[in-house]
Amino acid sequence: MYKSFRGGVHPKDFKSITSDIPTERMPAPQKVVIPVSQHIGTPGVPVVKIGDLVKKGQLIASADASMTSFVHASISGKVIDIAEYPSSYKDKSLAIVIESDGLDEWAEGLPLKRDWEKLSVAEIHEIVKAAGLVGLGGANFPTSFKLTYGPEKNIDSLLINASECEPYLNSDYRVMMEDTARVVLGAKIAMKSLGVKKCIIGVEDNKPKAIAAFEEAFKGTDVEVAALHTKYPQGAERMFIKVLLNREIPEGKRHSDIGVVGLNVGSVVAIANAVIDGIPLIERVITVSGDAIAQPKNLRVPIGTSFKDAIAYCGGYSKTPEKIINGGPMMGYALSNLDIPIIKGVAGILVLSKDAVSHDEESPCIRCGRCVDACPIGLIPSMLSILSEHSRHEEAYKDYGLLNCIECGSCAYVCPSKRRIVQYIRYSKSQNAGHAHK
Ligand code: SF4
Ligand code: SF4
Repeated sequence: MYKSFRGGVHPKDFKSITSDIPTERMPAPQKVVIPVSQHIGTPGVPVVKIGDLVKKGQLIASADASMTSFVHASISGKVIDIAEYPSSYKDKSLAIVIESDGLDEWAEGLPLKRDWEKLSVAEIHEIVKAAGLVGLGGANFPTSFKLTYGPEKNIDSLLINASECEPYLNSDYRVMMEDTARVVLGAKIAMKSLGVKKCIIGVEDNKPKAIAAFEEAFKGTDVEVAALHTKYPQGAERMFIKVLLNREIPEGKRHSDIGVVGLNVGSVVAIANAVIDGIPLIERVITVSGDAIAQPKNLRVPIGTSFKDAIAYCGGYSKTPEKIINGGPMMGYALSNLDIPIIKGVAGILVLSKDAVSHDEESPCIRCGRCVDACPIGLIPSMLSILSEHSRHEEAYKDYGLLNCIECGSCAYVCPSKRRIVQYIRYSKSQNAGHAHK
């Protein structure tokens, strides 16, 4: 058993609501709104115009940059608008709106069948870039950029993150159970692409069926299956690397600076789908859960489907929703506009009634230190929140490691004074934007 990391919390996971529900494919909605920027890096530039007819998998936006991600039509139909639309990644993004023709037809030649073992590393890089892959764990980092780190960064280890520690969410878990063979292929392709011999897939021990499936599927390969002690936020990159390799990311650096590439398990499947079948990232699995959704589901949705359409497909509300969250309860964001599109980095929708939402009033810090014990990074969350309250943002940055906060919410989870510590920290970060990590 691997050693755990310091701090962290054990929130009730609510995963059993959807863990055994097989993924259902949501039919193409009437229209999709596909932002050209769903990723870190240069936004795509539309290569279609209003009135064009497009097919599923067809390129609709691209950019001539290394740090970018191409964008493809997720349904077949007609381009009816190209304009700024509200988005969950940035407040607004240029988006391509496609009205469905109800046919759901693939672009010519898709899907195809390729023997990935005959492809060169350069060809794999090209294919992954052309397929518009971004990390499906929520960081929105272009996958093609990670896969080209190999030699120049001395990458020696690939870590596949299958911990999915966020409560309620099972989108990764369903991929692990339903696409196990594709995880194996994706891992092999990623290892070849990076030129690494070491690969570990880390799964929390609250998913014994996934661990057993991987142990069987990876038998005879160079990939190690690691069963990890369940603790939130295990899936955070820093914790994951610390637990599996006992390496720490220095301040202001990335995982690639310490020889590691981390990929979410869903991203690994997306690599296999792109390289073998030529299928770009046009859909993803999300979990729709919570006490106020009529039919909790794991759904495969076309990118650009609105949150509203996905909720309607799950039968709408079973009781009045108090809060609807993009993601899970620990790191997700409350949504005020359900017309915004589900993009590549969205893992779930949480629909909560007033019974499931805390209504506790915030009170002053009593200096109990619980947040300090819970912080996996070793910060002093109480001080960060107090400094933010008093607009001492520079001090929070200089003396208290503000930018090292991964916004995991463990501190707020344990705080008896119900202080909104993460909101304070996010606010201070926004005031220190000039110091943000490059
Ligand atoms: S200070 Fe940041 S990293 Fe530490 S527990 Fe709070 S949210 Fe997580
Ligand atoms: S847990 Fe809350 S009350 Fe206790 S020290 Fe931290 S911020 Fe203050």
